[in-house]
Amino acid sequence: IAKGQGKNAYSFFSGGMSQQARERLFLTNSLRGAVERDELVLNYQPRICMQSGTVVGAEALVRWQSPEHGLILPTRFIGLAEETGMIEPIGEWVLKTACRQMAQWQARYGRPGFISVNLSPRQFNQKKLADRIAALIEETGLEPTMLELEITESMVMGDPEKAQETLSRLARLGVRVSLDDFGTGYSSLSHLRQFPLQHLKIDKSFISDLPGDADAEAVTRAILGLASSLRLGCTAEGVETPAQRDFLAQEGCEAWQGYLFSKPVLPEALAEMLWN
Ligand code: C2E
Ligand code: MG
Ligand code: MG
Ligand code: MG
Repeated sequence: IAKGQGKNAYSFFSGGMSQQARERLFLTNSLRGAVERDELVLNYQPRICMQSGTVVGAEALVRWQSPEHGLILPTRFIGLAEETGMIEPIGEWVLKTACRQMAQWQARYGRPGFISVNLSPRQFNQKKLADRIAALIEETGLEPTMLELEITESMVMGDPEKAQETLSRLARLGVRVSLDDFGTGYSSLSHLRQFPLQHLKIDKSFISDLPGDADAEAVTRAILGLASSLRLGCTAEGVETPAQRDFLAQEGCEAWQGYLFSKPVLPEALAEMLWN
């Protein structure tokens, strides 16, 4: 019976689970409680101003330091957390930790710099998102303009009216919002124009083919042109070589992130880069 249905069907009939299903079950079980057991860690990747070459802020990127499985990157557990609803406590922890960290830095160093936090679709759709952010700002004393939230195109295009409302509330708080992985999703230009957004982040899949790949160059130029016409800031993600950075500088890109400057690092290392 299993013949012709691939390996998974075979292992099903032989009583086993597919490798993928086993990993899912395994991760789901230990992810439950990872927040309470204090196993999550935030790393920070600096964002560099193209013109001055200085660090202007940093993106918070979550990692899971599991005693059983070692260090796990977000691509392996964020999707799962989103499906199972565990993203709610995880996302809350990330927001709280990043805001507290930045407020602490703000108090200690008193100099500007911002923190950007990735939101998941579920988080963005929470009715209480803007209230929660307002409460965090109040609680930590963080300057609202020092917080940036990263969302993706699909989160706002699914229900543009609802997104408009959420984005307006966030804008009234003074928090900035950027569109992450820009160019890979499906954006309506008329909505883009109307939404109170401040920033686009060019997806690293385009940057990795720069310079030289005509399509990647064209898409990059188009996004930079769009950002400029809509008066949005623009950051290139995943810059790994001087040639990529130079191409972006020449095309007028305002800021960049990438291994060329630094990988995501622990908070102490980021503070060194920002304020020393
Ligand atoms: P993202 O928000 O687009 O973050 C950029 C990813 O590119 C990060 O991977 C970063 O480490 C990686 N990166 C940065 N510079 C370079 C480079 O020069 N070359 C290459 N090859 N990669 C580079 P990471 O940390 O594994 O995160 C992957 C994704 O997981 C993020 O993509 C984001 O969508 C999601 N994520 C991370 N932290 C959180 C979080 O706290 N909450 C939510 N909802 N999602 C998160
Ligand atoms: Mg991001
Ligand atoms: Mg992303
Ligand atoms: Mg991205």
